[in-house]
Amino acid sequence: MMEVILRDVGNVLTRTTGFLKTVTSHSLQPYRGCTFGNSLCGVGCYVRHNPYVTRGRSWGSFLEVRENAAASYQRHWRRERNWARRRLGQFGVFLSSSTEPFLPQEFRYRVTGSVLEAMLEQPPDLLVLQTHSHRVTEYEDLYLELSQRCRLRVHISIETDLDTVPGLPRHASSVDRRFDAACRLKRLGLFTVITVSPLLPIRDPESFFRRIGEAADRVVIDHFIEGDGTADGSRTLKTALPRAMKQIEEKSIGLDYRDRMVQVAQKFLPGRVGVSIDGFAGRYLTSGRPMVEHG
Ligand code: SF4
Repeated sequence: MMEVILRDVGNVLTRTTGFLKTVTSHSLQPYRGCTFGNSLCGVGCYVRHNPYVTRGRSWGSFLEVRENAAASYQRHWRRERNWARRRLGQFGVFLSSSTEPFLPQEFRYRVTGSVLEAMLEQPPDLLVLQTHSHRVTEYEDLYLELSQRCRLRVHISIETDLDTVPGLPRHASSVDRRFDAACRLKRLGLFTVITVSPLLPIRDPESFFRRIGEAADRVVIDHFIEGDGTADGSRTLKTALPRAMKQIEEKSIGLDYRDRMVQVAQKFLPGRVGVSIDGFAGRYLTSGRPMVEHG
């Protein structure tokens, strides 16, 4: 049973802390909760462990719709932008880190859409759209306009080439549909990044990264170790994800596996591969060292 409630937010622009601070100055959540929580990405989702968000509710069972998100953005834009530019040199927004901006419910309530429209008038310096859904393409006209007003990166998560992972629920959005979405946005000239995050076992790494090389401008490879907000992946180790990963590829739960995939990716995307948080921040490997390219 899914509980959907309408709830206003005070300030929708949250100043980032922790690892996200190196990516953007702010995050913006159009919703609290996520209706993809019971799909594959929800299994290892680090937000499910955040009591401030869940407030005792099980992950994937609730959604708070922040109907006033656009109004809140407009109200706080100047103050937050000035603060960010003064402290960090730029006002960057990560949309979103604790929910999915393009949930099926978005196309009823249109919270993300209204925020993007508000950004046309009051843009950030940098906007990173982070999604697990092929439905990201539904606002492509807005992105084309926004990309004239700010630096825009669209990050589409595709964690594996497997349509199903034994022992885990299905993807909320199929691998093929997410690839199609990336191809479409890239063809429109939008800066498109596929985030392999968290990296799951890949059946055919050569084909997978070749396909990414065609569908996206960049790739980011992010293992749950170093990637789930704990240094040793201890948050994810408590979930069903590592067991399912091991059953397909024993070594996939270690960083050696990630490094092997990075090597394959570099064959097909030379100079276009980001690793872990550096990749999310727009730093891609050049001669083995991460260089800022699209900050
Ligand atoms: S879409 Fe994102 S926030 Fe929602 S369950 Fe998946 S990983 Fe978590």
